[in-house]
Amino acid sequence: MAPLDALREEAAALDAADALAHFRAEFHLPPRADGSPTVYLCGNSLGLQPRETREDLLAELDDWARLGVDGHFEARTPWFDYHQALKPGLARICGATEDEVTSMAGLTTSLHALLVSFYAPRGRRRKILLEGGAFPSDRYALASHARLHGHDPADALVELQPRPGESLLRRQDVLDRIEALGDDLALVMLGGVHYYTGQLHDIAAITAAGHAVGAKVGWDLAHAAGNVPLQLHDWDADFAAFCSYKYLNAGPGSAAGVFVHERWGDAPELQRLAGWWGNDAASRFSMPAQFVPARGADGWQQSNAPVFTMAPIRTSLRLFDRATMPALRAKSLALTGLLERSIAAVVPAGKATLITPCDPSQRGCQLSLEVPERGEALHRALAEAGVVCDFRRPSVIRMAPVPLYNRFDDVVRVAEVFARLLG
Ligand SMILES: *Cc1c(COP(=O)(O)O)cnc(C)c1O
Repeated sequence: MAPLDALREEAAALDAADALAHFRAEFHLPPRADGSPTVYLCGNSLGLQPRETREDLLAELDDWARLGVDGHFEARTPWFDYHQALKPGLARICGATEDEVTSMAGLTTSLHALLVSFYAPRGRRRKILLEGGAFPSDRYALASHARLHGHDPADALVELQPRPGESLLRRQDVLDRIEALGDDLALVMLGGVHYYTGQLHDIAAITAAGHAVGAKVGWDLAHAAGNVPLQLHDWDADFAAFCSYKYLNAGPGSAAGVFVHERWGDAPELQRLAGWWGNDAASRFSMPAQFVPARGADGWQQSNAPVFTMAPIRTSLRLFDRATMPALRAKSLALTGLLERSIAAVVPAGKATLITPCDPSQRGCQLSLEVPERGEALHRALAEAGVVCDFRRPSVIRMAPVPLYNRFDDVVRVAEVFARLLG
């Protein structure tokens, strides 16, 4: 059988047997010009809108219209502690206790709030270990904290690079680097899943290595939250933050998620950028002159809850709770595995190379495909065929089949375009 025919058959069988298939109908799939749905593989950049989001947002608008200021305590979900409604779902996404998670601000802003507490250079212990080619916002944030403490980022920031000729970081190289930095290392902050290569790091092992030399270890989980199962409490991370608009489908610019390990939940010695919403809820409105931090991650909040960007997070977390992370991960492994095999089946060797790890335990759903020639033309052809994915210069196409709303048939559609253009 021709490879594409075999793939069509396999995908049809997988879709027919998919216990999560009905979740696709819970989302708005952007239509093509002819009204048919696009093959949306861009959930790593902006997740799709769940159908129930509109109703949940309208409920908040209605409460505001009906109650005005009284909505703080009398809305169906009182705005005073709106973030409480997100905790159970966020805790399950993070593998954390409810005390350890909260929602606030944006991702970069949340990282700044956490870095003030967890980057505390002293003497020679001032280095920050990050990935070379880290997401620019993370790099800017880390460099600004180095400067804030009077250090030159060129000295304080240590960037991990793959070995020459390789595009991924080897786990052992990361661990060795941490050990070599030893007493110089103040903080390790990496992306759990790298935004460009799709590499999933061994969060537990890297965290343990950082702690072994006396450093703090934090994670940017923008590309990991809602994509791969996380056990942040057991993995012992000091802190983490993630946006809610990628795999968590909460809409552009929605509030970020924050994790602070229980051992720091009640640690007055940590510096913080305090604000009234991080104050103990019991005394918040008696406006004490002295800041009394709330226990747990909530103590890092600053401003009152951005309800209109938190309501869509609730909607999304409800879907995750219904589907459950283990079931989503199982489908994700199958979806991404099929995409990988399809590419291998229709693309001649040398025309395109996967830079994402082949080992499924070292990646989430995203595959990054390096196309040395005509990458942009291929990306355009994918768009014309109704496939939404992105192209990163100089030569990488990123595709993220998302188990909540993508079908196995979507993968075949991609393979058809690859076969036509590269086969
Ligand atoms: C998406 C992403 C961001 C975006 O930050 P915002 O503050 O939400 O704009 C930051 N870091 C990483 C690693 C990302 O993937």
